[in-house]
Amino acid sequence: MKITVVGFWHGYPEKGDATSGYLLEKGDNKLLLDCGSGVLSSIEKYCLLSELNGVVLSHYHHDHMADIGVYQYAQILTASEEQRKVPTIYGHNDDKEAFSSLQKEGFVQAIEYKEGEPLEIGPFLFTFFKTNHPVPCYAMRIECDQKSIVYTADSSYMEELAVFADESDLLIAECSTYANNDLSQFGHMNSHDVGLLARRANTKELLLTHLPHIGDHQNLKREASDYFNGTISIATSGWTKEFK
Ligand SMILES: [Zn+2]
Ligand SMILES: [Zn+2]
Repeated sequence: MKITVVGFWHGYPEKGDATSGYLLEKGDNKLLLDCGSGVLSSIEKYCLLSELNGVVLSHYHHDHMADIGVYQYAQILTASEEQRKVPTIYGHNDDKEAFSSLQKEGFVQAIEYKEGEPLEIGPFLFTFFKTNHPVPCYAMRIECDQKSIVYTADSSYMEELAVFADESDLLIAECSTYANNDLSQFGHMNSHDVGLLARRANTKELLLTHLPHIGDHQNLKREASDYFNGTISIATSGWTKEFK
């Protein structure tokens, strides 16, 4: 299993970059976790768009799904009748209008996931956990070959999220701001929250993502290490990790 950061910015993308998007791969099985602004133009640095089997969306905020509409257009415009494969967009159905917009008959199918119902997608086993965020949002845990990746999506600190991420090999955690700033009322974590989450989860490695547009990201890492003494990385475009 291999994971690559396609985009990592909070809210909107900086020049040439993207907001949330992570390419999950094992052999020919390629999935995107979230599909934010700029993800569609960035993804082809790592794989062909036509190689994607689909997208798993955490929630329906623009910085996590802005490029879904153009992904649908790409399917409609590029696929010839014979070679067309219909990719799947997995999403929650707590917002029925948003969920139904994911489907484009004959080009893109939508499948609903639910908390507490494990979902097998190719070689990956997904489970979902509802986070604390202004709109319904789900963290996801992916198991493959005895390794696990947990992606928090967007959330303020929750003890239950640490339980969900228990003993993960990689925790991809949103870190929207610095330790001196509290964004919990907006459903986001700061660097101390994330460090605490990683410690409580006893994760092997922490990747800070969903990063702020101000300050020095190295400070996020230093602050997270006040609580967590395992390996901490900072998301950049193309950051990648492969589990053998
Ligand atoms: Zn959000
Ligand atoms: Zn977000």
